[in-house]
Amino acid sequence: MQGAELREHPDTPGGQVDNDLSRLQQKIDELERLLSDNNRLVATLRDYLLPHKASWGKGGGANVSSDSAHSQDGTLPGCRLANEMKDETDGVQLLDVYDLLPFDNPDGGAWKQGFEISYHGNEWDEQPLELFLVPHSHNDPGWLKTFDGYYQDQTRHILNNMLIKLSEDSRRKMIWAEISYFSKWWNDIDEQKREMVKRLVRAGQLELVTGGWVMADEANSHYFALLDQLIEGHQWIQRHIGVKPSSGWAVDPFGHSPSMAYLLKGAGLQDMVIQRVHYAVKKHFARQQTLEFQWRQSWDPSPRSDITCHMMPFYSYDVPHTCGPNPSICCQFDFHRLPGGRVYCPWRISPQPITEQNVQERALLLLDQYRQKSRLFRSPVLLVPLGDDFRFTDSSEWDAQFSNYQKLFDYFEQHPELHIKVNTRDTCEGGGAEGTRSSGPRLVLHLSLFI
Ligand SMILES: [Zn+2]
Repeated sequence: MQGAELREHPDTPGGQVDNDLSRLQQKIDELERLLSDNNRLVATLRDYLLPHKASWGKGGGANVSSDSAHSQDGTLPGCRLANEMKDETDGVQLLDVYDLLPFDNPDGGAWKQGFEISYHGNEWDEQPLELFLVPHSHNDPGWLKTFDGYYQDQTRHILNNMLIKLSEDSRRKMIWAEISYFSKWWNDIDEQKREMVKRLVRAGQLELVTGGWVMADEANSHYFALLDQLIEGHQWIQRHIGVKPSSGWAVDPFGHSPSMAYLLKGAGLQDMVIQRVHYAVKKHFARQQTLEFQWRQSWDPSPRSDITCHMMPFYSYDVPHTCGPNPSICCQFDFHRLPGGRVYCPWRISPQPITEQNVQERALLLLDQYRQKSRLFRSPVLLVPLGDDFRFTDSSEWDAQFSNYQKLFDYFEQHPELHIKVNTRDTCEGGGAEGTRSSGPRLVLHLSLFI
């Protein structure tokens, strides 16, 4: 412990160096603290300015559905705000951000890789929080089992139950990404069921997202392979369902490539969701409220290659990490983990079935997580995925998720003073000309990310 010894003898040359280094370290710590305060201040200022900048009264525009029933109603002002914010011109070069970040991984509390989030409670008084809950099931075409093994054991049951459960209630939604599985299942079902699929897609209850043959790896794959599987999937969808995907969904690729963003834009997609990004980058963007942005190619200064991108803020795409920053609370709203089931919450607090007795307490607990998550974004539109790997396999799982969430959402609806609106619509915008719809919000555009 030579360093410790030198610190005890500041008069020695070694001790002097040690003192200088120690002072330098303190200076750096102080600068880091000031930078962090500054970021918070800038975010607060933006937060204050944006509602004044946005024109709430304007109707129509890109956020209104092409479906006339939607456009006449026009009750999604949060979506309108998100679209109007596209005009902002600030841009961020991700390589510059890397230089800023210390990658020191401090413990962020409940949100391990993040920070404490606070709010006053009156932020949604004038503009309610608009929630899009998006049920999903991530199906790897081969991982611990083979493609056929997963299909036989899980995927065909998921899709069979999807047909039944979505048809029972028009408020229920689901997205599906892996067309390799979807086409295999399509070959197994009869004409009547195929018609049901088309009806659900037309109604906006089922959305095919990205539409690739697989959810492609973006780190190692050559662009030719990325493009080939995308064409394969899109041609299948066009031929059998007659629609085009409009939103990208990439929650499990280990890293994200600008080539994929470029190909998706070229394939006609309007927006995309990504998940596996370095936690320090997520944290930085969360602080700046720049998790939703316009992704621009580094070689293209014009906006023609831009695609709207939503970066998920937390650790994973499972339920514990999508409702808000605290996984021990969000896990209690994964009703597949109700006591007695095969899966449980590792934080040791189980979900409870929603009853008349506990609905108020449960709804407020969940709303607090939604509100905290919402503070990481500039628009009042909140995207909350609900799912995990190979989820929604059993009929009982569908019932547990949908019936318990419906009770919570009914409670929200009965209490307008909570200022949360659960969107039963498929999208802010309403989808492309071919009739596909987006489950996610029309995302906020406010920076250009070059990587
Ligand atoms: Zn995967």
